[in-house]
Amino acid sequence: MPEWVLLLLLVAAIAIGYTLGRIERGKKRNKIAGDLSQNYFLGLNYLLNDQTDEAIDTFVRSLDVTSDSVETFETRITLGRLYGRRGDVERAIQVHQGLLAKPSLEYKQSLRVQLELARDYLSAGLLDRAEALLRDVSRSESEIKYEALELLLDVYQQEKEWPKAIEVAEQLLPGNEASCRTKLAHYSCELAQRSLERREYHDAREFLKQALNYDRNSVRASLMLGAIEFDKEHYKAASKTLQRVFQQDLAFISETIPLLVKVGSRLGRFHSIDGYLNKCLKEQPSTAVMLALAENIRRSDGDERANRFIVQQLVRRPSLKGLYGLIEMHLEQLEGSSKENLELLSNLVSRVIRSKPVYRCIQCGFSGKELYWQCPSCKEWGCVKPIRGIEGQ
Ligand SMILES: [Zn+2]
Repeated sequence: MPEWVLLLLLVAAIAIGYTLGRIERGKKRNKIAGDLSQNYFLGLNYLLNDQTDEAIDTFVRSLDVTSDSVETFETRITLGRLYGRRGDVERAIQVHQGLLAKPSLEYKQSLRVQLELARDYLSAGLLDRAEALLRDVSRSESEIKYEALELLLDVYQQEKEWPKAIEVAEQLLPGNEASCRTKLAHYSCELAQRSLERREYHDAREFLKQALNYDRNSVRASLMLGAIEFDKEHYKAASKTLQRVFQQDLAFISETIPLLVKVGSRLGRFHSIDGYLNKCLKEQPSTAVMLALAENIRRSDGDERANRFIVQQLVRRPSLKGLYGLIEMHLEQLEGSSKENLELLSNLVSRVIRSKPVYRCIQCGFSGKELYWQCPSCKEWGCVKPIRGIEGQ
């Protein structure tokens, strides 16, 4: 059972106590108290058994007997949430809107209803309406202000309103340093990406610096800065920036290799990255690193040494991509029918590799061939990483 359901139960239980206490004070209303008590406990029982529909019916019945009293506030909030949970957003909105229209509502209660209504609007995809309500709640000094800011952040992420998302995440920083800094760095990278699309390199650099200020381990910022330096033909700076990923997150080293190899090629100094590659092979062996090293060994010591190096590495760490690299290297040295046979094997291995995902989210397990900085499934930032092992890096 999700945590919020347990929270609802608690809230509903408190509401029962309060309601019964109030009701029992009036002798005439003893029967109502009896009905309420029965209905509430029945409703709670349904909730505990995950029987949302039955719980809704029971709560509606309890509302019938005390239709307009303030004590029913928590019940109505719970009821609206239950409708939302059942996917009946329209009804959830009706319940919460009805509650908001009550003149007897206190200020704090009205803020809570606005928050619930904003949740409904978010579920219905009515982002503008949700935003308007959440802005109001987040400007209040109420304890639910931070809940509103979290939802507002969700709205701005969906709308890709990055400057506004930065403004909100800044307010959420105290107490949530790590997760907020990761998000703030990604929002800055999103802005840098927009600048790059408009070829505004100066602005892009500034946003990427900002990203690294928020999170010095922002791999994304280093990869983007490295690519900018490369485009600007600042090859040494590109190499230095990309190699920073080693300190930031070892899991992304394989992402730096293709551009680092190009840097070596442009500089005419392929071996300039050998130190980095050897360090990576020791700390975080990956097929990309191994094949880049093998290529450099081939350049300096010939095919045989390179082949031997790949075989040694594959024995230690078998991988499909490594095997494919080995086959490709052999293919260049063969002729005739042996070459044809090996080509068949090469095609087969290549097909198997193409059928496999390349990246996987470490939070929810979502996998695909593209590197998403925000997981399309669980919406977490920076959790989708290159897959390692036989079928990956
Ligand atoms: Zn995910």
